[in-house]
Parts: sequence; structure tokens; C-alpha cells
Amino acid sequence: MLTTKTLKLSLKSLREFARKRLPDETLIDLDARDECPLEIVHHMCSPDKLGIQLLFIPEEYGGMGGNTFDVYCVCEEMARIDLGIATSVLATFLGSDPITVGATPEQKKIWLTRIAEEGLLFAYGATEPEAGSDLGALRTTAERVGENGKIAGYKITGNKQWISNGGIAGAYTVLANTPSGPSWFIVEQGAKGFTHDKPEDKHGIRLSNTAALALDNVYVPTDRLVGGVEGQGLNQAQAVFGYTRLMVAAFGLGAGWAALDRAIPYSTKRIQAGAPLSEKQGYTHKLIVPNVARLEAARAYIEETAQRIDAGEGSLNTEGAIAKYMATEAGNSAADASIQALGGYGYTHEYMVEKIKRDVRITTIYEGTSEIMEMTISRDRWQIHLKTRGQHYHEQARKFEELHARYANVGAGSAALALHALAEVMERARIARLTRYQHILLRLGELIAYAECAGSLALRASLLAENKLHEKADRRFEASALAAISRIFAREAALKVAEDGVRWVLGAGGVAASELAAFESSLGLQAIHAAQAGLISDMDFVADVLYDRTAKRELAA
Ligand SMILES: Cc1cc2nc3c(=O)[nH]c(=O)nc-3n(C[C@H](O)[C@H](O)[C@H](O)COP(=O)(O)OP(=O)(O)OC[C@H]3O[C@@H](n4cnc5c(N)ncnc54)[C@H](O)[C@@H]3O)c2cc1C
Repeated sequence: MLTTKTLKLSLKSLREFARKRLPDETLIDLDARDECPLEIVHHMCSPDKLGIQLLFIPEEYGGMGGNTFDVYCVCEEMARIDLGIATSVLATFLGSDPITVGATPEQKKIWLTRIAEEGLLFAYGATEPEAGSDLGALRTTAERVGENGKIAGYKITGNKQWISNGGIAGAYTVLANTPSGPSWFIVEQGAKGFTHDKPEDKHGIRLSNTAALALDNVYVPTDRLVGGVEGQGLNQAQAVFGYTRLMVAAFGLGAGWAALDRAIPYSTKRIQAGAPLSEKQGYTHKLIVPNVARLEAARAYIEETAQRIDAGEGSLNTEGAIAKYMATEAGNSAADASIQALGGYGYTHEYMVEKIKRDVRITTIYEGTSEIMEMTISRDRWQIHLKTRGQHYHEQARKFEELHARYANVGAGSAALALHALAEVMERARIARLTRYQHILLRLGELIAYAECAGSLALRASLLAENKLHEKADRRFEASALAAISRIFAREAALKVAEDGVRWVLGAGGVAASELAAFESSLGLQAIHAAQAGLISDMDFVADVLYDRTAKRELAA
């Protein structure tokens, strides 16, 4: 774990480096030329220069041993600079993850030390032309090569698709089928029979190198089989999902804020109809404030999950999926709204939000698509719903009712309404066997993510009020502002769970027309509608905070 001081210093040097070496004009130019700035990537990864790699490598292998919270902070900062470069730098961690979780001590020593000492770039080769979301469809094979009755090595044959750093990495972890099942292998650049294609011409993250790989009977000795035992590949990939999805969640968060941080100042200077756009409620309350609320809800969930992983609660794959889903969808929505917020200027390259929008789009696709996240979330929480006989979310709701009793202003009351309604929607889905419809299963995943994030943000707002927030936690907002943001999001979550719940349950024939009123009442629909009171004044307050107007209003009053 890094000390708070070291983390802050690292983030500061990252920002300073970006300010000097990656101004907007450079980024726009590289994007237009579709070029990965290899020298910059190496500079960022070299131990004697920025050495971002070191933050993630355990101390015993020459790194600084950053924990999950540190990784989240660095990923958000990197994404604020450029998501393509962030992908390139962080691909090394993705690529070395199978080694970190599954390798033998000797393998760890060799490869993690090389990353720390040489700044070796890694790539993670899982996806194939026919195996994307469904990695089980993997076709790449690793054939045993025997010598004197013993396995001396493997011959790997197959194709990999969309591999970040595919054309520039020094080493690759490649997933291939052995006779005992999928396994990770380490393959070095330049191995005989190993080639990569030209970089893909992509919609966004054009500063990141993405290339297809071809392996034609590539020979690797047995010490390149990660962990030395065949068939562990999918477990090793699974073991880090919570962590790696949190990294991509932080990308969505950083890119979303990078876009809003351009839209907000722009709107103070752009005069239309006699006043700055920032003074127009129809502008701020549609394009800015709701996006801030969703991003901060996602941040609360990311920080909570990072702390739990660091506290040793396991890999928390479902929580990682919720964090990724919410943060990347929120990041996309914030970037899209930022284009709108800049009008015609937003639609041009020069003002950057257009590039950020293209870049952030990838975050809902790689490391598991949003639909796969919805499925992961829903399946896991469905099991908990069944095991607790429908009580899980009612119990969660009661915790937030208690929080609401202590802190009436942090949105915990609406979060509790969302969680109670969620429990009822899931129960109705169980009774009417609605999860036989895949669409219902996936929509439940979305509702679960909203309700859980509402709870997380309410908790975060209360911790901030009590001055008990994690030392490294983001402190952009002070307590009263975060409480208002939480109330806005919790209202949205409660309404979404209840109204979408009615929509999908009715849509799938789960409630007869004669039972509708009783179903709506079980969801607490009336209380959820009543909880919307005060929404506009909360949005006014958050807009005032964002535009630094609170002090001016107080003075005027
Ligand atoms: C720029 C970029 C960089 C990448 N970097 C890497 C990397 O470094 N290493 C690596 O291994 N991979 C990488 N990927 C691959 C990425 O992880 C996959 O693209 C992603 O997992 C989706 O797989 P797919 O593209 O085959 O889409 P598919 O799996 O074919 O999905 C297509 C659509 O169908 C939906 N879908 C899929 N299955 C289901 C289902 N069962 N039910 C309902 N809907 C479904 C998906 O949500 C999606 O909307 C990268 C991709 C890109 C574009």
C-alpha cells in the first residue's frame, strides 16, 4: 500500500507530466494520426522516469505495492489525461494479472521484476475472433511437446483479436486450450511463429495500440505455463475480475469527469439569450447535474468496493461488475451530454469533448460488456434473493432506514425505498418465473446496480459528514454538497426501480391487471413519488456548488 503522501505525489507528477508533454493539441494530433505515442508510454512505465508500473508491482519484486484503492486513484487520473494512453499503460497490469494471481514464485520473480526494472510492456491475450464475451468458445490450442516421456514444452496455435498493446508489447499472456483445459502462457515478442497484425482503425482510444495476434506452432518451454499446472486459466482470469473491472470503472469515472470539467467552465463563458449558459436551469439540470450525480454514485461504489477488496473480502466480482457498469455508463452519458453542452463547438475536434466521448465508449465494451455485467450482477444477486427467501434487499433497506434516522439529509431514506422496491420486484419475478426471459434478468441487473449505488452514495455522504471518509478518498465535494448529490441520485434510483419494475413485470405478464394496484402499493410507489419533493431545490444547490455560486448567494441574501 502506498502512503497517502506518496500517492498524492505520484498523481501530481502524472498531472505535471501530462500538462507538459500531452497538451490538447498533441492529443488531438495523435488522435487524428491514429498513433500510439510509444515514447510517452515507455516514459510513463520506465522505473527511472515516471514509473507508473512500479505502483502496481509488489514490493518484493521491486515495485511499490499499491493496493486496489491506489490503483483506482491512478486509473482515474490516467483516464482524465487520455484513455488511449491509460489503456496502453494499464494493459501491462491486465497482462500480468494471470502471473500475479496464478504464477509460481519463480515465474513471479522473473516477470514481475522485469516489469518493475525494465518497464517491460505486457499484453493480455484472451479474446479471439470467435470467442469474445463467451471465452469458453476459445479455439487457440497448446499442444504438449514431449521429451523422454516428460512434457518439455507446448506448441501454441491460434488467433487473438483486439489485443491492447498487441503490436508493441515485449511479452504477452495468452490463453490457450491444453489437454486439461484453458491455461495462460507467457509468450515473448519475436518468438518464432508469433506475429501481430497492423493496428486497428478504431472509433476511439486511437492513442492505444490494438492489434490481432497470430500464433502458428509457437514453441514455449513448460516454464511459460503460468502456475505450472494446466487447466487453471479461467479460474485465474476470474480471480482478478473484481480488481480489473474496478480499473475500467475508474476509467469511465475519469473520462466522464474530464468531459464535464470542460463543459462546466465553457458554460460560464458562453452567453446566449443575454446570460451565460451556466445560469440556465434547463441547461444545467439536464446536461450537468444528473451526470454529476451518476458519476458520484459510481465513485461511491468504486471506493467502497476497493476498500473491501483491500480489507481482504475476496475478489468481489459482482461488486466489480456493478462498479464497472455504473461508472462506464455514467461516463458515456456525461461525455455525450458534454458534447451537447458545447453545442456546435462540442461537435468539433478542437474542443476535446468529442474525442473524450469516442474514447470512453470502449469502457462499456472491454473487460466485459455492459450486458455481460448486467447478467453477472443479476445472476449473483438472484441467488442471494432465493437463499434469503426474498429478504436480502429488505434487510439492506432497513440498514439505510437506520442511517436515515441518524442522518435525515444524505438520501438514505430514498435509498431504502429503492431497496425495498427492488426486493418486491425480484420477488414478483420469482413467483411469476420471469427470469426465464433473458431481458428481464438483465434489466434486473440494472435495477440492482442503481439501488446498491444509491445505498453506497448515501453511506459515503454520511461518512464525509462524520469526517470518516477513507484518507485517500476523493474530496471534490464537501458534506452538504455530497448529501444533496446523494438525495438526487437516490430519488432517481427509487423511481427507476419502481417504474421500470412495474414496466418489466407487467410487460412479461407477471401481474394481472386486477392485481396491479396491490403490486404498486407493495413497491411503495406512492412514497417514492412523494420522495421526489425537493428535487429541484437540491439540483439548484448542486448547480450553485459546481459553479461556485453558493458564497455569492449567501452574500446576496
Ligand atoms: C479497443 C479494444 C481493446 C481490447 N483489449 C483487449 C485486450 O487487451 N485483451 C483481450 O483479451 N481482449 C480485449 N478486447 C476485447 C473485448 O474484451 C471484447 O471485445 C469484449 O469482451 C466483447 O467481445 P466481442 O467483441 O467478441 O463481442 P460479443 O461477445 O460478440 O458481443 C457483441 C454484443 O452482444 C452482446 N452479448 C454477448 N453475449 C451475450 C449474451 N450471452 N446475452 C446477451 N447479449 C450478449 C454483448 O454485450 C455485445 O453488445 C478489446 C476490445 C477492444 C475493442
